[in-house]
Amino acid sequence: MTQHTARHVTRQQRKARRLPLLAAAALAAATALTAPTVAPAHAAACNGYVGLTFDDGPSGNTTALLSALTRNGLRATMFDQGQYAAASPALVRAQVSAGMWVGNHSYTHPHLPQLGQAQIDSEIARTQQAVAGAGGGTPVLFRPPYGETNATVKAVAAKYGLTQIIWDVDSQDWNGASTDAIVQAAARLTAGQVILMHDWSANTLAAVPRIAQGLTGRGLCAGRISPTTGRAVAP
Ligand SMILES: [Zn+2]
Repeated sequence: MTQHTARHVTRQQRKARRLPLLAAAALAAATALTAPTVAPAHAAACNGYVGLTFDDGPSGNTTALLSALTRNGLRATMFDQGQYAAASPALVRAQVSAGMWVGNHSYTHPHLPQLGQAQIDSEIARTQQAVAGAGGGTPVLFRPPYGETNATVKAVAAKYGLTQIIWDVDSQDWNGASTDAIVQAAARLTAGQVILMHDWSANTLAAVPRIAQGLTGRGLCAGRISPTTGRAVAP
């Protein structure tokens, strides 16, 4: 009985000892094979950049959105409304601290082509002041509300050193798109393109991890939008 138990334990111990040895051998072999050719995961190659944009903030949802973006290694352009930047300057600073770029999305979100030049000027100028005053820097990118623009809007934007940015892909999050549909919209992005999303959309917030996975799988990274070309480029 004693002998049997002793033999049994010994056999188990021998088996237990063999497993870490095998694992260590496998790891050594894998390391030898991959170490010279494969770069660390954090240095994954970017074959191209896309511009993620979130309009209408900052808001009560901004903190959660920034958290999701940073957790998933994404940077984005936040087209803030001046009225909200003025009301919540700390959230503008949080956007910058999280590595985001802050753009101008007008002060009160009007249909700009329906306004006179002086009103358009006021919408754009006050937003520049509100964002800069909050610590968001002076924006160089401008997105007109609803993507509605005309020659006067463009000229006033240019007067403030702003490049107008519309979008290549509309996520339709403003129109009740599901999280699946938003993920699928991001999957259509090609290098250099820009996608429209919104700060306030819960479905967009939920889509962020899957958007990040999809981009990584296609060798794309989230970049900044060049004010020169309006295209997404390396940060
Ligand atoms: Zn908007």
